[in-house]
Amino acid sequence: MSPTIAPRLLNVIDDDILPLTERGVFAGNKVFGAAILRKSDLSLVMAGANGEIENPLWHGEIHTLKQFYELSQRPASSELVFLSTHEPCTMCLSAITWAGFDNFYYLFSHEDSRDAFAIPHDLKILSEVFGLAPGGYRHSNAFWTAYSIPQLVESESEPLRSQLQQQLVRIKQHYAILSARYQESKGDNHIPLN
Ligand SMILES: [Zn+2]
Repeated sequence: MSPTIAPRLLNVIDDDILPLTERGVFAGNKVFGAAILRKSDLSLVMAGANGEIENPLWHGEIHTLKQFYELSQRPASSELVFLSTHEPCTMCLSAITWAGFDNFYYLFSHEDSRDAFAIPHDLKILSEVFGLAPGGYRHSNAFWTAYSIPQLVESESEPLRSQLQQQLVRIKQHYAILSARYQESKGDNHIPLN
C-alpha cells in the first residue's frame, strides 16, 4: 500500500499550526487549529488557530477559512485538502461544506475533545440540537469524506507506522500542555461555550 498523506499532515500540525496555537493560547484562546493545503503537492496555503477571544465564531476552522478568503488569489476548494486538528463541530462541518471542500482530515476526535480537552460542546450540540449520538453524522456523504489521521497512521507500513506513532505521542503531549494552560485561564474569558 502506498503511503497516505498522514506524514505531511502531522508535519503541518507540528510546524505550522502548533506555533500559531501557542500564541493563541497565550492570548486566552482555545487549542483548536486548522490548515488548507494543495492536493497536488501538499504545499501549505493557509494555517490558522482558534480566535474565540475576538469572536466566539472564530473556531480554528472558521478562522482559517476567513483568512483563506481574504487572500487576493487562491486555488479552488476542489483542489484543496482541509486539515483540522480536532474533529470539526457542527458549525465547522457546515462551513467546510459551504466552502466546497470534498474532504477533511482530523487528528483528535469529538470524544478526545470531551475527554482529553474538557471541551464537551461538540458532542453536546450534536445531541441537543441534532439528536445525534457521538459519531452520528455521516462521515462520507454527497459533499465530502472525513478521515481520521490516527486511522491513516495505523494503515501505514512499518517502519513508517512506528515513526508516525511516536510523532503522534509528541504532538499529543504538546497539546496536553497547551490544553492545561487554556483550562487554567478560561475562568477569566467571556467565550459563551468555553
Ligand atoms: Zn467548530
